[in-house]
Amino acid sequence: MSEKVNCLIIGSGPAGYTAAIYTSRANLSPVLYEGIQPGGQLTTTNEIENFPGYPEGITGFQMMEDLKKQAAKFGADIRSGIATSCDLSQSPYKVTIDGEKQIETKVLIICTGAAAKYLGIPDEVKYSGIGVSACATCDGFFYRKKTVAIVGGGDTACEEAIYLAGLANKVYMIVRKDYLRATKIMQERVLNHPKIEMLFNTNTLGLFGEKAVEGAHLVRHAGTPQEEKFDIAIDGFFLAIGHTPNSEIFKDYLERDETGYIKTQGRSTKTAVPGVFAAGDVADPHYRQAITAAGSGCIAAIEAERYLL
Ligand code: NDP
Repeated sequence: MSEKVNCLIIGSGPAGYTAAIYTSRANLSPVLYEGIQPGGQLTTTNEIENFPGYPEGITGFQMMEDLKKQAAKFGADIRSGIATSCDLSQSPYKVTIDGEKQIETKVLIICTGAAAKYLGIPDEVKYSGIGVSACATCDGFFYRKKTVAIVGGGDTACEEAIYLAGLANKVYMIVRKDYLRATKIMQERVLNHPKIEMLFNTNTLGLFGEKAVEGAHLVRHAGTPQEEKFDIAIDGFFLAIGHTPNSEIFKDYLERDETGYIKTQGRSTKTAVPGVFAAGDVADPHYRQAITAAGSGCIAAIEAERYLL
């Protein structure tokens, strides 16, 4: 079973829906498949207060509903389904949906996003949205004058620890090794920050709290004679242990960096395959914001339109 379309968009975060709004207004008749998590990562955050145009803030879920409605209003064909494999060896490009339906398309806009990594402990799920977050920029504001912890020792963790320290009274950095992986300058900033307390050689065993997170159970030097279990009192628990771009199915055709982010050309969303564009977090290891994803979805749509001229 194969269907021919003009413009296929995969993914339904801000990049995908923005690409759908622009391509439908340009009469490209886009078909958008929503993917594993309709609405994308933002549907798991509480309130979005940093997207221009919403002075009162908006929930991630509502924003995605609005974007979807806006794309549908201009004629985008929005469908549920997951892209499970593809063949980008020649145009028209072939994408298989849910392992069975094949779509042939002249233009492909990949907006499959990235997923924050979690530790894998059950309490992360239990307290999701009530004290656990993988996005300090999104949720840090809710912890003004409170105490938070952030897990990770890379540049993201350092950057977010500093951001959180600008809001919270105290920030614990939970680092599993005895050193930070982050660049020297970022290390110096966190190590010298008066509000940041480093907890090296430390892992998280669990979280506790009646209605929301009230603390974390930690272990230092786990599995050694110096092993020491202890608790810290915190209001928020942040993860900054990396992201995994959802780019696996494209790996045989598109160039990716060592983490899996799809490489695009310069400031554009063009991949090395003509007519295949990548926008939003799947191609962005640096910014990962709703507004930047939406912006790159717009760029992809304009580049797709020019490609089809
Ligand atoms: P990284 O992969 O660089 O760092 C991840 C951190 O999380 C490491 O300290 C790692 O520990 C730790 N970690 C991973 N898994 C676990 C776990 N299960 N339990 C505890 N800790 C864990 O990811 P980042 O997101 O920080 O950075 C990704 C890339 O983006 C990097 O190249 C970075 O330099 C870049 N970046 C650049 C920025 C800038 O230039 N302004 C800002 C942010 C990111 P360990 O070291 O032990 O493996």
